[in-house]
Amino acid sequence: MTPAFAPPAKPTQPSATTPAPKSTPLADDLSFLSRHLGPNKATEKEMLQTLGLSSLEELVQATLPKGLASAHPPRLPPARSETRALADLEKILAANPPWRSLIGLGYHGTITPPVLRRAILEDPGWYTSYTPYQPEISQGRLEALLNYQTMVLELTGMEIANASLLDEGTAAAEAASLAYAAMADKNRKTLWLTPGLHPSSTSVISTRAAALGWRVVVSDSFPEKETSNLFAGILAYPESDGRVADPRPSIEQLKKSGALSIMIADPLSLFLLTPPGELGADVAVGSTQRFGVPIGFGGPHAAYFATRLAYQRLLPGRLIGVSKDTAGRTAYRLSLQTREQHIRRDRATSNICTAQALLAALASMYAIHHGPKGLYQIALRIHQHTQRLAAGLKVIGLTIAHPTFFDTLHIQGPPAALKTARLKAAQAQTNFRDFPNGDLGITLDERTDEAEVDRLLSFFGATKLPPPSSEFPPIPTPLARKSPALRHPIFTSHANENELLRYIRRLAAKDLTPAQSMVPLGSCTMKLNAASELTPLGWSTISEPHPYAPADQNPGYLRIIHDLETWLGEITGLPHVSLQPNAGSQGEYAGLLSIRAWHYSRGDTQRDVCLIPVSAHGTNPASAVLVGFRVIPVACDSQGNVDLSDLDAKLKEHGPRVAAAMVTYPSTHGVFETAIRDLCAKVHQAGGQVYMDGANLNALVGICRPGEFGVDACHLNLHKTFCIPHGGGGPGVGPIAVASHLAPFFPPIPTKP
Ligand SMILES: *Cc1c(COP(=O)(O)O)cnc(C)c1O
Repeated sequence: MTPAFAPPAKPTQPSATTPAPKSTPLADDLSFLSRHLGPNKATEKEMLQTLGLSSLEELVQATLPKGLASAHPPRLPPARSETRALADLEKILAANPPWRSLIGLGYHGTITPPVLRRAILEDPGWYTSYTPYQPEISQGRLEALLNYQTMVLELTGMEIANASLLDEGTAAAEAASLAYAAMADKNRKTLWLTPGLHPSSTSVISTRAAALGWRVVVSDSFPEKETSNLFAGILAYPESDGRVADPRPSIEQLKKSGALSIMIADPLSLFLLTPPGELGADVAVGSTQRFGVPIGFGGPHAAYFATRLAYQRLLPGRLIGVSKDTAGRTAYRLSLQTREQHIRRDRATSNICTAQALLAALASMYAIHHGPKGLYQIALRIHQHTQRLAAGLKVIGLTIAHPTFFDTLHIQGPPAALKTARLKAAQAQTNFRDFPNGDLGITLDERTDEAEVDRLLSFFGATKLPPPSSEFPPIPTPLARKSPALRHPIFTSHANENELLRYIRRLAAKDLTPAQSMVPLGSCTMKLNAASELTPLGWSTISEPHPYAPADQNPGYLRIIHDLETWLGEITGLPHVSLQPNAGSQGEYAGLLSIRAWHYSRGDTQRDVCLIPVSAHGTNPASAVLVGFRVIPVACDSQGNVDLSDLDAKLKEHGPRVAAAMVTYPSTHGVFETAIRDLCAKVHQAGGQVYMDGANLNALVGICRPGEFGVDACHLNLHKTFCIPHGGGGPGVGPIAVASHLAPFFPPIPTKP
């Protein structure tokens, strides 16, 4: 689950069914379908003739099992043309005034270099490409991801890094899973969290822990009493409120106790701070958002994951390796794939499939764009501005809670003074972090300049300004980084924009994507996103809002989220929708967690069996395990249909222990199983719930609704069925839709801290 969005508060304006404006049609009205669907009238006719059918309606009828079609089409507002949709979106988003958010909490202002915006983020060669499973058509994106791994390795000082994960909280939870898997003694079930983690990470980790039966201890100092039960400790570096504590004593104690140490580290700070690898940490994770990836109201951004070679077989996510092709030339390919859910299923290291490849490629190119010197300068400047701000605040009698910091100050002082500063900042449309006790937090970023620090000081009533930022020293502690970062020549060989642009184009030219050709891949529906669908990405009203800004600042965003949830509920026939999960796998996880919580609420705590057909995608069994379920496979016939007699046998055998059955509809083999209603009824009779993997929803949209044939919960992959780009393996959005009885059991969403 991503902690990305603020809780989807109800929008302040009426919305969901806002009708399209009634006016004369524009020239491009109604041309969307013909522009964006492959077959034309002639090819359509040829196909129908070959099949001996007379119309598309007949084809649908012949394909769908009897009685499955919905009695009515989904109640959605009328379709709008591309031009109108963009104009309406612009209007809705105009309600988001531009605030400058210095809230921190894992989200930082950044500057996306225009060359990267144009040549990567807005280039269909990069945003439509598929996950690089076929290395012969993916050398470009593989190289970009390898650069990402190299960047992470050098910044963290670790020995092996993967090609991106979903978000910081999930990466930290995956790190805890790695640590637990590494323990020989499976009775070590205590996980130590320091209070310095971002609240969203603590929440995601705690949700994972609860499902797997881990005990979470949150304490500032090493939990001595738990020494023999500990499997890992998670430290933040810097901490959420800005403190930079020396992690070495904690790492030492963890090592002595036989547990692993996990550091959540801000990659930009690692240009100034000694990297986790040199401090003795076993795993380093974090977000690479501030490497040129817009905040976007909380995502998508790539998380990184790095560890020691000893744990390489436990590494979650994709790993790019360097290999030789048949002619002996260097080539890239995915490595150690036997760890992944596609092959290992319920014994996989992780359920993560779609990650954030596009954003990882962007972050790696940001590192190449600035190079080691440029990035060091950015980090240093941010730190010096922060020192200058601290100096100015101290002069007027305010207290900076922690003497050592990177970019974030925890500010204490008389409540009246802080209140005035908060008000003045609000008048200038500037957001600070509000701590529950009334203290203030300010996080500076790449966008901060001298004038901004002056402005911030003026909110607090400072009149005597400190000397310029450049006169403040680098990190003054024994924690200062001494080893150089980003020594690999790739980070210094494309210093000017011509070189960089050519490099990016050279990589893209090595790939085959929907920008060149149809890519006929099964359920991971490959589509060339309409350019208009990606246009809003470039709008500051989309890219800048901070997820923890007060909800009333972003009514436009909230309305879009609310509308989409309502429409997806209508499309699936499952009215309660959450857009929180950031991939299909995370939707499965969230949906199964809801099912588990529902069983528990009824006292059915023994229900831990998840029935999964052998034809299912690997994420299904991997997700079930994360929820604490036991996977019992159900046989399929040669056509990929679930074998109902085997289902009966398994239901009989495990009846009172059946928690859920997962079914992909239509199946990965492209089959609309005729017995889907029976299947749902049988599982319900046994007291179980039906989870539908909705990766293939594109075959159902507008025709039938899973909620009507007995499904209790399903996810949708908006990067497959709708217009989120596939991005070479992400971004993903994997909303879950559930029936009313499950809605109260959605996993908790981290609220504003
Ligand atoms: C893609 C896919 C998934 C996993 O979804 P991600 O968004 O990649 O996490 C699960 N099941 C099926 C059938 C899929 O095609």
